[in-house]
Amino acid sequence: MNIRDENVLRELNLYPLWVRRDMPAPAPIVEQAGETVPQAVPPVQAMTAAQVLPAASGLDWTALKQQVRDCTACKLRAGCTQTVFGVGDENADWLFVGEGPGADEDAQGEPFVGQAGKLLDNMLAAIGLKRGATVYIANIVKCRPPGNRTPEADEIATCLPYLQQQIALVKPKLIVALGKTAATSLLGRDATLGSLRGTVHEYQGVPLIVTYHPAYLLRSPAEKAKAWQDLCFAVQRMNA
Ligand code: SF4
Repeated sequence: MNIRDENVLRELNLYPLWVRRDMPAPAPIVEQAGETVPQAVPPVQAMTAAQVLPAASGLDWTALKQQVRDCTACKLRAGCTQTVFGVGDENADWLFVGEGPGADEDAQGEPFVGQAGKLLDNMLAAIGLKRGATVYIANIVKCRPPGNRTPEADEIATCLPYLQQQIALVKPKLIVALGKTAATSLLGRDATLGSLRGTVHEYQGVPLIVTYHPAYLLRSPAEKAKAWQDLCFAVQRMNA
């Protein structure tokens, strides 16, 4: 292990505890009693709001970006500075999906640029990945929820067509859902994050793996070891 790798793992709070050179076994499927995602997210299929969903299917990158930039389809737009589309390699093998923009992302117009973004970059580096190089990063909702609250079911359902079209354009080989909101929104069912870890799910034919949101890991650093397990599991799946 070189100095750079050591620094990355130290930043993840995984060094010197995680020094084994072989991949750890996939995380067992267990309930995470410590999971403190603020609110349960209703499954998308269970939403009853009769909102008009944006027509994003079939758009190319230019048209999709323009449509998101101009979007006012849900109430989140009124409270944010700008929409936050997504960033990275538009032909990436890896797609990381978070929940929604926070204050830093809202100000800069890019996902994961605050402290959580720094941790995500370190998580990517720990498995040999880099933002923008065969990695694309996006969120479930493109506008910052007020006070960083969890997006509501109607907001998720309204915004999801944009992410679906991003996925159709990127054609990733693997999706990594960061946190419960991303996971349950994409899978369309409510479940604990712990019950979703350690399993290869599928979204629109693309394998999907679930791990913790970096913001949660900042609040609960003891869980970083589990996130490391998930990342190793994702690498195993990508290389399978
Ligand atoms: Fe449109 Fe999504 Fe922003 Fe809502 S969150 S206004 S659907 S871009």
